[in-house]
Amino acid sequence: MARLHEVTVPDVGDKGDLSVAEVHVKPGDAVWADDTLVTVESGKAALDVPAPVDGAVVEVRVAPGEAVAAGHVVAVIEESLEQRPKSQPLRGGALPSAPPRFSLFAAFAATQSKAPAQPEEIECEMLVLGGGPGGYSAAFRAADLGMDTLLVERHAALGGVCLNVGCIPSKALLHLSAAMEEANGLAGAGIRFHPPEIDLAALRAHKDKVVGQLTGGLAGMARARKVRIVNGSGRFRDAHCLEVESAEGRQAIRFRKCIIAAGSHPIHLPFLPKDERIVDSSGALELRRRPRRMLVIGGGIVGLEMATVYSALGARLDVVEMQDCLMPGPDRDLARIWEVRNRHRFDNIMLRTRSVAAHADEEGVWVRFEGDMAPADAQRYDLILQSVGRKPNGQRLDAERAGVAVSETGFIPVNARMATNVPHIYAVGDIAGLPMLAHKAVHQGHVAAEAAAGMASRHDDSLIPGVAYTLPEVAWVGLSEDEARRQDMAVEVARFPWSASGRAIANGAEYGMTKLIFERAGGRLLGGAIAGPGAGDMIGEIALAVSRGCDAAAIGRDIHHPHPTLGETMGLAADLAHGSCTDLPPQRKSQSLRYGA
Ligand SMILES: Cc1cc2nc3c(=O)[nH]c(=O)nc-3n(C[C@H](O)[C@H](O)[C@H](O)COP(=O)(O)OP(=O)(O)OC[C@H]3O[C@@H](n4cnc5c(N)ncnc54)[C@H](O)[C@@H]3O)c2cc1C
Repeated sequence: MARLHEVTVPDVGDKGDLSVAEVHVKPGDAVWADDTLVTVESGKAALDVPAPVDGAVVEVRVAPGEAVAAGHVVAVIEESLEQRPKSQPLRGGALPSAPPRFSLFAAFAATQSKAPAQPEEIECEMLVLGGGPGGYSAAFRAADLGMDTLLVERHAALGGVCLNVGCIPSKALLHLSAAMEEANGLAGAGIRFHPPEIDLAALRAHKDKVVGQLTGGLAGMARARKVRIVNGSGRFRDAHCLEVESAEGRQAIRFRKCIIAAGSHPIHLPFLPKDERIVDSSGALELRRRPRRMLVIGGGIVGLEMATVYSALGARLDVVEMQDCLMPGPDRDLARIWEVRNRHRFDNIMLRTRSVAAHADEEGVWVRFEGDMAPADAQRYDLILQSVGRKPNGQRLDAERAGVAVSETGFIPVNARMATNVPHIYAVGDIAGLPMLAHKAVHQGHVAAEAAAGMASRHDDSLIPGVAYTLPEVAWVGLSEDEARRQDMAVEVARFPWSASGRAIANGAEYGMTKLIFERAGGRLLGGAIAGPGAGDMIGEIALAVSRGCDAAAIGRDIHHPHPTLGETMGLAADLAHGSCTDLPPQRKSQSLRYGA
């Protein structure tokens, strides 16, 4: 049953008259934790009374002008595990109010933190908050640089979203999906297998073993570096103290420097009922059921990767996406290759359409849609994956007590050295901005630890590769052709079709493509993309070539790509750029990208 919270005016020790200045919500409104419900004022200051949890307003018990006192109930909230996506306004059309810049409540809490009955304190030089890829990488680098380092993580296992409920379990399952698909594809070459028998419990155990191997390895590496781990949920008390709460009690940790790596959480749609057949990506990775008909809400990469897995397990798929395309990120010609190869998995691809209502009964979960491709009637599904994005955890840390600025959307703004507005406190990973990717978090973790140690490290966000680990994979880095067009830049685009690659044909991957984008004037490589098996493993070469300012000659001639490989397509695309690709019919030569020009 949903939990009800009576929200009261906090006791701020103000003995003057308090009255309601403004009521920001009405019954039925969806609210995030920390959204302001009511503003109360005294003669001295205004006090925002925030929602304590995500949920819906059941009752508002005060009106503007009404006199109130500490403990007076202003509203009742029904707690929900689901969250309103940040772009969706409150039901009445009002936008959520900005988090209070100054609140009497925060001031009160800060005063309270100086009260005598505080938990015992421990000390460290570097405190890292969060044990995901950003956090453990920062902690390990800080320890390697000689800092006495302590890491706070609320879960027993290190590794964060990436290792536990993100990159690694999803890739373990995608690898098996690819193997099944490849085995199936061998029939045309005369090798036939029986249809696969899927043991869901064994599959889950395999995935858990992969995760356990990696998270266990992290714990060992932390021990080897003498990084102390404190398990519990941390919130700032002030700019040099974090309070950690766990089942064992509370622990205060005093630090000289801090790296915040507290990550993000999935956004949940408020209209979806609580039902075990409605999951987010973490729930989908638990593999609790094999649905016959599945709806994926959100056509981004996480949704499409999980769709691939469930399709391999036998589900028929529908996907609904508000935008006019699936797989945002890569150029459309690359995404199109994925689309053509994956069309068979989907019964309905609903673009420019939204799911707007749902109810669950014994038969399934019924969903209604609105938009260009919405079916007239509600559709029934056995499983619904909501993958509509993630929200950074910035508003869950009492960061304002440390003086750290947090944006309305929960991000913590940082500079190129990953420092926040408080110079000895850094932030990295999902909480420090887009894109939310593990390799970005790791890199930023290293930069933050090095900056804290006084080194001149900086983070450059212009070259972060993106990869959809779908079947086939699609990977991209640097400037895209679409972006070049938007910016009206003069570029030379070389597309090497894998139908001319010996290895791709041998592997049954002749549908793939490697694309390089060169600056027309100087010939420098600016970006590139690959669609095909192993694209994610190969994109690093393009990133390196861009970062080193390589031109087509350097990639096509100076670097020897072994034959026959899929990586060879990078050299062939570069050859194509200057019109001398001997693996294709003669090309029209580009004047600007000739060797030695
Ligand atoms: C299904 C899925 C697949 C993904 N696949 C990929 C992929 O293939 N490649 C890729 O690059 N990225 C992928 N990502 C994204 C990637 O997982 C994240 O970008 C990455 O984990 C971010 O790392 P982080 O360290 O910033 O945060 P997180 O991994 O979220 O770690 C934050 C940690 O902080 C802890 N924490 C939070 N608040 C507190 C607190 N108050 N006190 C104590 N501890 C706290 C959390 O428990 C968590 O362990 C995927 C994500 C999902 C959901």
